[in-house]
Amino acid sequence: MKLATAQGGRGTYVALETGGEWIDYTKAHQIYHLLAHDAPGPVLSTLDVMFREGLVSSEHVEPVVSRLGEYGLTERFALSEAPVCLQPHRPGKILCIGRNYSAHAAETGHEAPKQPVVFSKSPAACIGPGCPIRIRETYGRVDHEGELAVVIGKRAKDVRRENALDCVAGYTIVNDVTARDIQQQDIGKGLPWFLSKSMDSFCPVGPAVLLTNALVEPLEADVEVRVNGELRQQSNTRRLIFDVPALIAYITEYITLEPGDIIATGTPEGIAPLVPGDQVEVTIPPIGTLSNPVEAEPPL
Ligand code: MG
Repeated sequence: MKLATAQGGRGTYVALETGGEWIDYTKAHQIYHLLAHDAPGPVLSTLDVMFREGLVSSEHVEPVVSRLGEYGLTERFALSEAPVCLQPHRPGKILCIGRNYSAHAAETGHEAPKQPVVFSKSPAACIGPGCPIRIRETYGRVDHEGELAVVIGKRAKDVRRENALDCVAGYTIVNDVTARDIQQQDIGKGLPWFLSKSMDSFCPVGPAVLLTNALVEPLEADVEVRVNGELRQQSNTRRLIFDVPALIAYITEYITLEPGDIIATGTPEGIAPLVPGDQVEVTIPPIGTLSNPVEAEPPL
């Protein structure tokens, strides 16, 4: 099952994909709440609202779907066409993992790390599917980095590896767009990577959140990046050096994770430059494809 914040004629709503069909989950949940609790429930107009209510998880969504099925109501909420997906939600934190595939560490001139390399991107850099990645000539080389991203569903601190997946709501896709020249200059000066990773529009995310029951450890999801249809990156998440439970256990020793937070698990080899006019697509079946155009930001 996948959840997406969608745009329609009446504004934003939450769309749910179940059994290959998309339904209007905002409406479906209202009817479910009336049936189950004999009272109107919260209007779940976006995934942000659902995260606030603690409702982004298969354990909350499955009863809605099954109850609607029992009453023969599912078709009533079916969407006639695939929804127009927006940025799924606004995460409080975006934690990223560097050099988490050996072949990518090698292409950047590094050995595989002995412990996770954790850095962050600004949530303000997030954009949704179809929104332009904007780059200026003065940025120098700007690369795509297609990545599997973990979406946190429950507050988590000091989590052990064996329980780590309990706090995961699902998975989405992040393109960890990076101003490579600026990053290298900053590394050379002993400065952090934050600026080169957090420029406006440098964090495409989406198109949907795949709930965890559809993708269980060990993760074996293909990750592919195409630019103008040409394959640039191709790998599989089974090649992650530090897997998702290891990352959650490591991070939560130091940082509390909150619902909606994102961990971008790292990019495989094949990073390459983007230029204005490009169309970049990151595909992770069964989450979907995150597609964004690249546009020139007007000079100062
Ligand atoms: Mg990255």
